[in-house]
Amino acid sequence: MTPSQKYLSRMGLRENDGYAGQDDTPRGHADPFKTAPGENRDSGLAPGTAHPSGTSGDGAGGDRRSFLKKTALGGLALGGFLFAPIEDTLAHSTSKVNRYSAPSDLRITDMRYTTAMNTTGRCTIIRIDTNQGIYGYGEVRDGADWRYALFLKSRILGMNPCSVEQIFKRIKQFGGPGRQGGGVCAVEMALWDLAGKAYNVPAYQLLGGKYRDRVRLYADTPEEEDPKVFTAKLKDRLEGKGFTFLKMDLGIELIRKIPGALVGTNFWDVERQWNMAPMTYGATQHPFTQIQITPKGLEEMAKYVIQVRDVIGYEVPLASDHFGHFDMNNAIRLGKALDPYRLAWLEDLIPWQMAEEWKEITRSIDTPTNTGEDIYLKEDFIRMIDMHATDLIHPDLATAGGLLETKKIGDYAEEKGVAMAMHFAGLPISFMANVHCAAATQNFVALEHHSLDLPYWSDFVKTRDGKPLFEKGFAHVPDTPGLGVELNEDMIKQHQDPDNKNYFGPTPEWDAVKSWDRTWS
Ligand SMILES: [Mg+2]
Repeated sequence: MTPSQKYLSRMGLRENDGYAGQDDTPRGHADPFKTAPGENRDSGLAPGTAHPSGTSGDGAGGDRRSFLKKTALGGLALGGFLFAPIEDTLAHSTSKVNRYSAPSDLRITDMRYTTAMNTTGRCTIIRIDTNQGIYGYGEVRDGADWRYALFLKSRILGMNPCSVEQIFKRIKQFGGPGRQGGGVCAVEMALWDLAGKAYNVPAYQLLGGKYRDRVRLYADTPEEEDPKVFTAKLKDRLEGKGFTFLKMDLGIELIRKIPGALVGTNFWDVERQWNMAPMTYGATQHPFTQIQITPKGLEEMAKYVIQVRDVIGYEVPLASDHFGHFDMNNAIRLGKALDPYRLAWLEDLIPWQMAEEWKEITRSIDTPTNTGEDIYLKEDFIRMIDMHATDLIHPDLATAGGLLETKKIGDYAEEKGVAMAMHFAGLPISFMANVHCAAATQNFVALEHHSLDLPYWSDFVKTRDGKPLFEKGFAHVPDTPGLGVELNEDMIKQHQDPDNKNYFGPTPEWDAVKSWDRTWS
């Protein structure tokens, strides 16, 4: 027995057994925490002793023992409780904590999903269930495959959902840039929803507290061929809906029919920016199209922005996006042509991976530059922030790594003098994850709202405090537990993916791990 084991045994405690699930044995759900017959390894009570919480007590011992160990060794005033039974000590030390459940005993028991159609396509909502009846919602990034999330089920079954960072570190190897990050982030969101419910606090509080009571939104506005239709839409977002920050799409496809505006359109179909078929314009990265914008083309692009500014004025920030696929040199020329109209930022002019080229664009034009909606995890953001590749960063929380990773990204950017806007194009579950993160991050500028043309968008959920999700261009930061919303089942069912009508049906085919996942040896 080591000295520490001796000390702990005097207190009726044992060393942390560790997490049994770390070995390589493939197992079905809850197996990692299986308790041997007659053994109540959770409570440290004698075999056969009833668990005070009324649960079986399977496997909750690690957290509890280490908590007690820390409080004992850390000199926390346990005073007269020193020789009292552990459960009495625990009950006393946590008696003032307002909780909905016994968080240290929480275990993940299931993951299920459903889908709903958004303006941006299919979105998947996952639900993570627990042994205490509470559950958490997360959302796979818009347009991503629900299987990105379901694949992670076997990796998290039996774990404590309140150990958010520990679970995140276990699963983050299964995410990647763009939609590939969608599954990991959905799980992470659901864990904060669960942890918030377990401890009865809003998710922003678990991230360190809030900087603001309402979160500024920016209104995305998809392209319209007719500038009059487009400016009317922008005006409605501004004056009708009360938004204080706008974004417009401004692609070279707008000028494709003007003779002499573009070079290269005899080969590339610039109308099809969203084509994913190999070797098409849509699937070809910007420098490889060698498309050029002529001086006349630059003038026409500027004219479009002038028409917008004439209608909305200069008081309102106006960002722009989706320019089309052309190289750094043409991006710089376009940026210079648009500099006089003081756009809030030029977004995704080239792929984020081309960091050196981004830096060159940022140095060459006066308008702020912005990218990042497809970057997964903080490391690539840190690289770009350190070289000041863009003036702002623009993570999509459903790709970047979820609430905590996005806050870490924002905090790092803040230290380096870089502002963070947030990209978002999903449903209200992911929206609320963004709202909590934005509330808790100081250098936040504005969060995108991409579905203003869908009148029922907010009705996919019901807020726990009864307040609207957002009003007059600002999202309300709720004080209710977790993400603060519940699903509106009727609405989801009305707008499900026509090819997949699953509504949180069983998913046992995802229960077993069938791989050795450690990424180092
Ligand atoms: Mg974008």
